[in-house]
Amino acid sequence: MPVFQPPAPPDFRPDCELCREAGGTLVFQAARWRVIRAQDASFPAFYRVVWRAHVAEWSDLSLAGQAGLMGVVGAVERVLRDALAPTKINLASLGNVVPHLHWHVIARFDWDSHFPAPVWAAPAREVVPAPVVRLRTPLPELDTRVARAVAALAPAA
Ligand SMILES: [Zn+2]
Repeated sequence: MPVFQPPAPPDFRPDCELCREAGGTLVFQAARWRVIRAQDASFPAFYRVVWRAHVAEWSDLSLAGQAGLMGVVGAVERVLRDALAPTKINLASLGNVVPHLHWHVIARFDWDSHFPAPVWAAPAREVVPAPVVRLRTPLPELDTRVARAVAALAPAA
C-alpha cells in the first residue's frame, strides 16, 4: 500500500483537506502528484489525480507540469475504459469546494444514478443492485491496474 506524503512547506496549507489527507483510497503516490479513488457508493470507479503542492488553478502549473499531469489523467482514463467498458468517461476539474488542483476521472454508465447528468447533479434514479457489484472488474484489481499504469509515468511527471 502506498503511504500518503503531504506536501512540505511552503506548498502545504494547513486549512486544506487535500494537503492534510490523501482524500480517498491512495492508489499511487508520485513526487508531484497522487492518484486516489473516491469513496462514493454511487460512483465506485471514481478516481482523482491530485497535484501534490497546494495550487488552486490549472494555469499555476508550468506547461511541463500540465503535460505530465494530463498524461496521468489519460492513463487512468485508459484503464477505466479497458477494464470497465463504461458508457462514457467524465473528466472535470472544479475545485469550488476544495480549491487544491485535482482532476476527476469518472467511469459513467447509462444505468448509473445520475446519467446523463453530471455526478454533482440531482439523482435521476435508484440503482439496485449496488453499482459496485455491476462493475466487470473488482475494485482491488482496478486499483492495481491504475497504479501500474500511472507508475510508468512517475519519473517523467
Ligand atoms: Zn491544498
